[in-house]
Amino acid sequence: MERHLIEEPRGRARSTANETGTAAPLIPPRPTISKLQEVARGCRACPLWKTGTQTVFGEGSRRAKVVFVGEQPGNDEDLAGKPFVGPAGKLLDKALVEAGINRDEVYVTNTVKHFKWEPSGKRRIHKKPNAREIAACRPWLDAELGVLRPEVIVCLGATAAQALISKDFKVSQRRGEFVDSKLAGLVMATVHPSSILRAPDDETRHREMKKLISDLGNVAKAMRSLEVAEWEKHTSEAIARTRYHAEFKLLDVYFTTGKTYRYGHVTAAEVRALMNASSLGTYFNQVFKPQHEHVWPTRS
Ligand code: SF4
Repeated sequence: MERHLIEEPRGRARSTANETGTAAPLIPPRPTISKLQEVARGCRACPLWKTGTQTVFGEGSRRAKVVFVGEQPGNDEDLAGKPFVGPAGKLLDKALVEAGINRDEVYVTNTVKHFKWEPSGKRRIHKKPNAREIAACRPWLDAELGVLRPEVIVCLGATAAQALISKDFKVSQRRGEFVDSKLAGLVMATVHPSSILRAPDDETRHREMKKLISDLGNVAKAMRSLEVAEWEKHTSEAIARTRYHAEFKLLDVYFTTGKTYRYGHVTAAEVRALMNASSLGTYFNQVFKPQHEHVWPTRS
């Protein structure tokens, strides 16, 4: 539980809210991250605009292959107007360094863009956003992901995981596991770094930090495999695109019909042979497909 001294909201007129319950009408046409950040400053789609000092939008590399999604800004983030700059953010930075991920190459954001809190004496104590607030704010997150089109999404904590993966997702049971999702090629959930700060003793904190670094280590491996796979994108009449996750030996084949198949146990040599075939479609149907079974249900 975050505990901080209450500070008065700064520098923003408290106009009458138009709490429509969704930020969707505010999403600009042909959005960019800069445009979204600008427009989101005036969002009043849910009551949280009144509790937070300001909108805390996502930040990071526009070419990020990985997007980290937390729950909501904390006290420090609310005051600074930037995500993951408080103690939890510093802990995340440390874990990223240990895992070999450069924070300059990632984008960090939250499921909900305003700080929700309740008073306790002179302190502001984090309060979990409810389903209505999460739904109201979702268009901002969808717009960010739509602009960035990340290869990897990492949900930090249950709120992000249940919003992006499934309502009944249990981080305690499935942390560190890449799950099937239409949002990105690789989607994983792990704990929110603030949960490590709340550990009851040093031993637990140390153990939980090691687990977080291990989860992020798998993300780092996936990022490296995606770098290897860059050249393996291809187009043909039937196959719109392929994406190879070398680390996991997974090949995704996207068809122009919108369907996707994922094949397991595919070696880099097999992918190269497929990509170098004079007719990709013929080689795929006559050589590759008979030798491999898809490991994902067909998606459209
Ligand atoms: S939490 Fe999200 S939807 Fe609610 S006012 Fe803030 S930016 Fe808008």
